[in-house]
Amino acid sequence: MAIRSKRLPVSEANGHQFVNNEAEVNVFNGETFPAGFPFGGCRICGQHPTYEVVEEAAHVQEPCSHPDGITTTITLSVPSGKLLVSDNLRPVYNWGDDALVDYNCVLGRDRAIKAMAAIGCAFGHASDRSLGLYRTEQDRYIIATPWIDFDNDETPSIPDETCLAQICTDIWSYSLADYEHWLSMGGDPETLDSGDTVVNVTPGTYQFVHHSGERGFDVDSEGTVIFAHVDRIA
Ligand SMILES: [Zn+2]
Ligand SMILES: [Zn+2]
Repeated sequence: MAIRSKRLPVSEANGHQFVNNEAEVNVFNGETFPAGFPFGGCRICGQHPTYEVVEEAAHVQEPCSHPDGITTTITLSVPSGKLLVSDNLRPVYNWGDDALVDYNCVLGRDRAIKAMAAIGCAFGHASDRSLGLYRTEQDRYIIATPWIDFDNDETPSIPDETCLAQICTDIWSYSLADYEHWLSMGGDPETLDSGDTVVNVTPGTYQFVHHSGERGFDVDSEGTVIFAHVDRIA
């Protein structure tokens, strides 16, 4: 008797989010057995919860720990007023592997952001789209991807002249630090290149609110995609 595999829609996700919203089952001797999620665990919590099959659909049993996703807030001290903006500031700033669960889920990225903030680096996950640091008001910034409507006048949704730093997205991330702190940690100016920018800001403490882990965050949405709000708070 052959085992047959098929995919079923997840009709009750219990707060989790699965790619394509699909679960797999094996069918053997007329009976159906849960066989996991074809594209990995929940994209928020990383778990692989159990599920029952009810009327050709999966009903997940254990609830997600973060059904609304995660907004990650950290602060970065920039006493020098010189903000180094880059895609990658490793190995000067690096998280210990033990600090992480799974970087492929939002919960793991939340821990990575916090581990990096604790050592002086505002780090975050991006997409492979055009990314930059833009000034919105005095002492207020966004890390964002502008929307360009190619069907119309191609005017970007954020004015080009407010862009203070373009960020390379080859590795889908951004990293910011106080330039003098980076030097004191062993950063070598010789290693900086055209993808790294030092932006003059008001010296102080900046709050970064990272939005990419929130439920409904969509890099493909029309309009400006804001990965983080950056505001001076002290
Ligand atoms: Zn979950
Ligand atoms: Zn915000």
